[in-house]
Amino acid sequence: MNADVPYNLMSAAIDSTSDGVIISDAENRIIYVNRAFTEVTGYSPEEAIGQTPSILKSGLQDEQFYQEMWQELLSVGHWQGNIWNRRRNGEIYLEYITITADYDRDGNVNHYIGVFSDIHDLRETKGRLQQITNYDSLTELPNRTQVYSQLKQISSDVARDKKLVAVVLFDLDDFKSLNDHYGHAVGDQLLTVIAQRLKKVARNKDLVGRLGGDEFILILRDLHNMDEIDQMATRILDTIATPCNINGNQHHITASMGVTILPFDNADSDTLLRHADQAMYMAKEHGRNRYHLFDTEKDQRIQTRRQLLNRLAFALSHDELVLYYQPKVNLRTGEVVGVEALLRWMHPEDGMLLPGQYLPHAEHSDLIIGIGEWVIQQAISQAVAWHRSGLNITVSVNIAARQLLRPDFVDILQEILQEQPLLPRGCLEIEILESAALEDTEHVQKVIKECSKLGVSFSLDDFGTGFASLSYLRDIPADILKIDRSFVSNILDNTDDMTLIEGIIGLGTAFQRVVVAEGVETAEQGVLLMRLGCDIAQGYCIARPMPADDLLGWVEDYQPDPQWALWADTHWEMSDFPLLVAQYDHIKWVRRVLLHVDGASLQLSHAELSDHRLCRFGHWYYGHGLSRYGHVEKFIELEQIHTSVHLVGKEIVSLCSKGKKTDAKRKCEELLHLKDQIIEKLTALQHCVANQAETQ
Ligand code: C2E
Ligand code: MG
Ligand code: MG
Repeated sequence: MNADVPYNLMSAAIDSTSDGVIISDAENRIIYVNRAFTEVTGYSPEEAIGQTPSILKSGLQDEQFYQEMWQELLSVGHWQGNIWNRRRNGEIYLEYITITADYDRDGNVNHYIGVFSDIHDLRETKGRLQQITNYDSLTELPNRTQVYSQLKQISSDVARDKKLVAVVLFDLDDFKSLNDHYGHAVGDQLLTVIAQRLKKVARNKDLVGRLGGDEFILILRDLHNMDEIDQMATRILDTIATPCNINGNQHHITASMGVTILPFDNADSDTLLRHADQAMYMAKEHGRNRYHLFDTEKDQRIQTRRQLLNRLAFALSHDELVLYYQPKVNLRTGEVVGVEALLRWMHPEDGMLLPGQYLPHAEHSDLIIGIGEWVIQQAISQAVAWHRSGLNITVSVNIAARQLLRPDFVDILQEILQEQPLLPRGCLEIEILESAALEDTEHVQKVIKECSKLGVSFSLDDFGTGFASLSYLRDIPADILKIDRSFVSNILDNTDDMTLIEGIIGLGTAFQRVVVAEGVETAEQGVLLMRLGCDIAQGYCIARPMPADDLLGWVEDYQPDPQWALWADTHWEMSDFPLLVAQYDHIKWVRRVLLHVDGASLQLSHAELSDHRLCRFGHWYYGHGLSRYGHVEKFIELEQIHTSVHLVGKEIVSLCSKGKKTDAKRKCEELLHLKDQIIEKLTALQHCVANQAETQ
């Protein structure tokens, strides 16, 4: 298109450009240079023409540089880049050059055309460039790039310095409305004033920067304690809040400030700024014109939780989760009535993890729903497998509140059940925490009713801990109440817990619910529960949770504790309840004496120790006991033994006070023997009472 332009016009145009132009032939001999070439290099056309461009070589680039340049030029037809060259007067300068190869019709190189510009005032340019890249043009404060790189340096030094560094980030409250109202020029002036004030507040070692807009940052170094940080932050807030006069108008502006502190916050620069930013938003939320400290510990907790959840999600999809099963038995008949599925995480590095170690973190995330569905599917197919092998038991699964309260819970359950048509009706039970059921009683009520149509029953887990009221118990149609194990574990030692359990059992009976005791650890607890009217139990004294494959074998070998069979056929009236309590009061009394011999302080008053009428057993014996069983021989025989118990106990304590430990220990055997006699008589009396109740 330019073919018609006359040659002399082209030549004049090339001569007048400020870029140097150099044309060489196929052998790279210079055949043309323009005026700018001469101005930059100092070589006249006469001196240059016929030479190669190597007359300009500075020696600052090695051969490899030129080889690579030629390689690219010949392969793609052009090259661009910076070259350090030498002027005729010996001065070195940097040029930016584009070299293009000109080809003939056969594809052979005809000419090379170089066009370059001199970056001779490079230093100045560099300085200017740096100013533009690293400083904010309005306030002349370091900008984000500069702050960022300084922060990197500072955070790497902080471990060595052993002092605190505060990253203080703030923006101005309501700056936008000031801008809108008075115009950007006023806004800019205000920012400049603030920048100047900040420079005054900051010490030499601190860094003040502007991140953009009305956002500023201070990096305060060499701080010794939180008081110092507080003082600095307050001073900064005050200086900003000082009214500012622009064009005769007084402006009151405040700032909201976020502070994070190194080395407590041990994060990278990006994260440090983000943390300070989060804290700044908290300051805004808390009412502005204030600073807020970033909570490193809380953040770490959140991070740990997030990591754990990711890891747990991975565990779920990679078969690291398994279900263990813990049997529930009928104490009276010895029959295994069901199992509870309990989640286990087989962690490849940390071994088997119990739900308490990870589930609470998942309870507020949707991961618990994925886990819950997996648990139901797994438990159901296991139940089907057991039924095929002739073991007809119910399987209960624990379901979190979050899952139960989802509107699609019943639909999903139904789908899962449809996938397992071989599961006999009534074999799935869902355990929900009593506290979870309290969250939305109405919804839970509906879910339980719908599940009941599917043949799925419900139990209220950890019953007694959720403070459910009576009306609530009436409204929630759960079939089973599981007495929390904290009450069961204290049943022998704590009369209050025993009374509570008695109450729960009474409630259960009144509302026609099945009562299950969980956490039964000793046969005696089982006896007591059975006598109080709770026949179904689950706990370590029956079996610990076990892998699914072990269950059939366990059921085959299972022998209920003989004590339970002994009590199986007896009935018990609640008015005889104090007789049970008395037995455990006596056991406790003896235990306290024994503990004292082992060095513990004596947990009995002088009267309780020395007067057989004033211990708790004595109170019962000469009170309720005497009036109710005074005529029974076994009861009468107890008195003499009990009196001896106190004589021996007193003697043991006295030996202890004289430092005669060995003698005291020997006497303990005598005490234990007497205790056994008391238990024997009490058991006989209890049998006697139970049988009488039966015949009445
Ligand atoms: P939970 O449903 O009340 O289960 C009973 C817990 O008591 C189980 O702890 C069991 O191993 C333990 N236990 C049973 N007998 C005894 C005993 O005699 N003594 C003592 N000290 N403990 C006994 P585990 O397996 O650690 O589970 C703890 C809780 O985690 C469960 O309490 C349940 O609330 C929850 N959980 C377990 N599996 C799942 C699950 O699949 N999904 C959900 N959402 N929660 C589950
Ligand atoms: Mg449970
Ligand atoms: Mg429980």
